[in-house]
Amino acid sequence: MSRPVVAIIGRPNVGKSTLFNRLVGGRVSITEDTPGVTRDRLYREVEWQNNYFLLMDTGGLELGSDDVFAKEIEIQVDMALETADLILFLVDGREGVSNLDRMIAEKLHKGGRDPLVVVNKVDTHHTPDTVYEFYELGFPDMAIISAEQSFGLGDLLDDIIDRLPKESSHSIESDALKISVIGKPNVGKSSLINQLLGENRMIVTNIPGTTRDAIDSYYERDGKEYILIDTAGMRRQRSIDNLVERYSVIRTLSSVDRSEMCLFLIDATMGVTEQDKRIAGYAHNNAKASIIVVNKWDLVEKETNTMKEYEDKIRNDLAFMPYAPVVFISAKTGYHISQLFETINRVDENYSYRMPTSLFNQILRDATIMSPPPTDKGKRLKIYYGTQVTTRPPKIIFYCNDADMFHFSYMRYLENTIRKNFSFEGVPLVLEARERKEREE
Ligand code: GDP
Ligand code: GDP
Repeated sequence: MSRPVVAIIGRPNVGKSTLFNRLVGGRVSITEDTPGVTRDRLYREVEWQNNYFLLMDTGGLELGSDDVFAKEIEIQVDMALETADLILFLVDGREGVSNLDRMIAEKLHKGGRDPLVVVNKVDTHHTPDTVYEFYELGFPDMAIISAEQSFGLGDLLDDIIDRLPKESSHSIESDALKISVIGKPNVGKSSLINQLLGENRMIVTNIPGTTRDAIDSYYERDGKEYILIDTAGMRRQRSIDNLVERYSVIRTLSSVDRSEMCLFLIDATMGVTEQDKRIAGYAHNNAKASIIVVNKWDLVEKETNTMKEYEDKIRNDLAFMPYAPVVFISAKTGYHISQLFETINRVDENYSYRMPTSLFNQILRDATIMSPPPTDKGKRLKIYYGTQVTTRPPKIIFYCNDADMFHFSYMRYLENTIRKNFSFEGVPLVLEARERKEREE
């Protein structure tokens, strides 16, 4: 599922951070427990009545002198225009319209986008007249809140959800495998995409992707259809200051959301970066099929064990996805491109694999005999049976007497057992323990 992106913009001190914290408050982002993801958080996932969106963290955009300031606002607005499905334009309801507000409004008008104007700091239940001044900014939609007092936030969230693109409105109706090629600038994404499209460019059409006009490439090879998801955000070469980088990461996450499989491109001469980890962690948490692709292998001086040592190092850096195959390629020379294709097709099949229930339960029983489930205060965890309820991603439910006793380490043991017996290379498994009342007694 693709998660829409929401950005909060506005001049300093209007309450952006306060609102951000209120909206994400208490809700733990699903990325929290993945290594490399917690530091320098770029966005948070917000859930409201079963709708999800990514809220950009505009923290750390604070500014120095006045002209730096105008420049920063320019970048802030530009990036929000480019990245976000919805812009919340926050203003201060106690101070009324300021010149900086007008400047931001003008930029938004030029960009042709109507934000939702959010008038903050209205701490009383009656609405002061100053609020209506904001219609001067020329946008039809306005929400009135107090971030600090948490007034109006439910209505604001309803408004946000109403305005976000619905999943179905831009989902691609096709059986084609949706792949995104992920990696930092210069790692070789465009070169690889060209290799993949190559002579097999039988049909290449541009399919308008999202509301942000992402362009995806569709192609066929040996009768199989593929869509390469747009990763323009990461491909574009711009002055990489911090802010631009943040936005490009958000765009990448959105590409990950729209794809079923991610190719994580690592530059052989540079290794895995923090940002690589963060994005791979996101794909893992969202149960996308993954392949680690080490590019520019032609530049590495090779000795007998180079590949093995290299792979160990990468596995160590991306330890949360031990299931992902590592393929060494050169997008420039074409080395191992056909091997990569084979790997893509194999992983795609694994992603759709469904374990036969009876065989799976036989293996499960054997596993619980080999290494019995944990006990606690004389009570033993009993696993009645397991069943794979979905594919793409495979989700497996274990029915048991006490879900709390189903410790992570035992779950891990069962996952390893499943992986030993069935081919889920490249595929994350979603495992869940569910309680079932015992009939006896
Ligand atoms: P930012 O610079 O836009 O991120 O603004 P902050 O979130 O840091 O808030 C600036 C100041 O406004 C802080 O002192 C907040 O406590 C205060 N503030 C934020 N929201 C409200 C509100 O709804 N009412 C009032 N009275 N103050 C608020
Ligand atoms: P992107 O920014 O990730 O799309 O990277 P590009 O595909 O534009 O590649 C960046 C640079 O790396 C270009 O100069 C490419 O020619 C070069 N490059 C890409 N792949 C390889 C490779 O496998 N080997 C070598 N030696 N250079 C490569």
